[in-house]
Amino acid sequence: MLTDESSWPGAFCKKGVKRQSPIDIRTNEVIRDFEKQFIKYGELNFTGYESVLMTGINNGHTIQFSTDGDNSMHPTIRGGPLKHQYRLEQFHFHWLSEHAINGVKFPMEIHFVHVRSDLKVSEALKKRDGLAIISVFCNVKADLTVEEEEPSEELIQYIPQLMRTADRISGVLIDIRKLLTLDKRSYYTYLGSLTSPECNEVVVWIIFMKPIQITDALYRIFGKVGVGRHNFRSLQKVSHHLVFQPPPEMITTPKAVKILSNVVRVIRDFFHNVTSFVSKGLKTR
Ligand SMILES: [Zn+2]
Repeated sequence: MLTDESSWPGAFCKKGVKRQSPIDIRTNEVIRDFEKQFIKYGELNFTGYESVLMTGINNGHTIQFSTDGDNSMHPTIRGGPLKHQYRLEQFHFHWLSEHAINGVKFPMEIHFVHVRSDLKVSEALKKRDGLAIISVFCNVKADLTVEEEEPSEELIQYIPQLMRTADRISGVLIDIRKLLTLDKRSYYTYLGSLTSPECNEVVVWIIFMKPIQITDALYRIFGKVGVGRHNFRSLQKVSHHLVFQPPPEMITTPKAVKILSNVVRVIRDFFHNVTSFVSKGLKTR
């Protein structure tokens, strides 16, 4: 169990403490990043998440799926606040969620842990942007649409085989796209820390606003996983954290619309010039 946080090893967990995670995100304090202060690299771009070879384990704290095979085969992410490319190492579950939005938690949060592609894990743990963790909140719902049911269908094949500590299944193929949110343009992002020892302040957090849905049946299975009643770290004091989100324009105005409006303006200006030329010509007659 992770509940006795006072006994955690690692200096960061005790006194590091400028940008510890998780935090309660107050939406009225989030910076809409019109200036591209933090979100400098365009839209988030996911590559290779559709059929990922993984090993699932119950490590006594959570259920975790780790990417198998060579680093070069792992899915990668780039863009948004990420200056570098990052490779997926593993994903795991927290119940309840670790982050909160305006004081409200979700039933579950999935963390997709990525490491900077140009670094080994040991090196990444020393850089302020060594890791990128994509976070997806889960809501529990009774009646799901076909599309909403996809995440549960993807997971329920495997979770029941991982109920006890040290349970392990290898060689599973997971379509991780189904576990990500449907709206990848709306997210909160900030520089923070790992939420388990040694709490290194090396994480670019990207937290999707739109939760996925999971079935009541799946959530109840998680409730029986033998890692204690819950496995989230307590909310940390907000000090040096600055939370950003893409501004509404980046979200709602696709490039094509902008180009079209430019074309319309050029055509309008052209006709305006022609008309004024013609009317000038008429006057001088
Ligand atoms: Zn986590």
